[in-house]
Amino acid sequence: MEYTIAVLKGDGIGPEIVNETIKVLDAVSEKTGIQFEFQDYLLGGAAYDQTGSPLPEETVAGCKNADAVLLGAVGGERWDTLPASLRPEAGLLGIRKALGLYANLRHVKIFEPLRNSSPLKNELIAHGLDIMIVRELTGGIYFGKKGREGEDTAFDTERYSRFEVERIARTAFGLAQKRAKRLCSVDKANVLESSRLWREVVIETATDYPDVALSHMYVDNCAMQLIRNPGQFDVVVTSNMFGDILSDEASMLSGSIGMLASASLANGAFGLYEPIHGSAPDIAGQNKANPLATVLSASMMLRYSLGEAVAADLIDNAVEAVLKAFRTADIYEEGFTLVSCSEMGDRVAALLRA
Ligand code: NAD
Repeated sequence: MEYTIAVLKGDGIGPEIVNETIKVLDAVSEKTGIQFEFQDYLLGGAAYDQTGSPLPEETVAGCKNADAVLLGAVGGERWDTLPASLRPEAGLLGIRKALGLYANLRHVKIFEPLRNSSPLKNELIAHGLDIMIVRELTGGIYFGKKGREGEDTAFDTERYSRFEVERIARTAFGLAQKRAKRLCSVDKANVLESSRLWREVVIETATDYPDVALSHMYVDNCAMQLIRNPGQFDVVVTSNMFGDILSDEASMLSGSIGMLASASLANGAFGLYEPIHGSAPDIAGQNKANPLATVLSASMMLRYSLGEAVAADLIDNAVEAVLKAFRTADIYEEGFTLVSCSEMGDRVAALLRA
């Protein structure tokens, strides 16, 4: 198979971590015969510098014509004084909107060799930790009616339609089918009417996925359970605001921002894949960044947009194996070999080719 991948390297460490990821995907090609055509487009500060816009039209068109999008990160102090519409972050929000990305997936996983990096006690993660948080991305209170009533009152509205809930529920059920077949829907149905509709629709949708065990949890309880007993979760689906908060909480469980991958999905199989961290200007250009969050984002791309689960497993296994001996500075522990960003890419690629 041959796939076209739109590549948005962005700013700061973006080009470094994406280059290593392409190195790894080239090794996947050699190993499996899967062909990738990488097409570079500008986004963020780099795009502003060259074109005057953080999201040139050519970038939107190129992404729409691709099978999937791989993104590094955007942003940096240099562009912080620009008007909001010209800042790198406007490019990021713009591309998500232009591509209709309504489901955000954050994969929280502790690789066995990194267990000591988790702030959780070892006994809580004795059986590993592998949670997929599915956050609704284009609805809810962030997009609802908001305003001021006089000087002293303000309001924001949480609003969900049956269509929006069913769409995200189907994404989550589909993911659960590919994983451990457990889905926990998180809401606040004891208080919120929008949550009661959410729960009703998730229950109705479940009839199409009889092989997935569905449970429900209130968001306050979920915030606690993620720390108390994170191993109970497989896939979690929730609204935009609850997902924003819970996914940040959950991402800390793995201990390192340089390891966490994410995907944002549109209708069908199309998606945009990126690490959860930013452009890390403090270490940009020093060949120090950990490229593994981006490498693991590419693994998610293979699994969820390209239907190449075997190749995705090859990457995940190679990352796990490399971590047994080699570490970038952010995850360094005594007894391991400290490597640069490019050496980390070389190690993963070499293992894939072996
Ligand atoms: P950041 O995630 O860029 O960095 C936070 C800290 O984590 C820094 O010390 C950094 O060195 C470290 N870090 C991040 N990624 C790393 C990696 N792969 N390897 C090793 N260390 C890593 O967040 P920030 O400093 O708050 O933001 C910097 C810039 O990134 C800002 O302009 C911000 O707007 C932007 N940003 C972009 C995105 C995105 O592109 N999706 C997300 C968050 C922040």
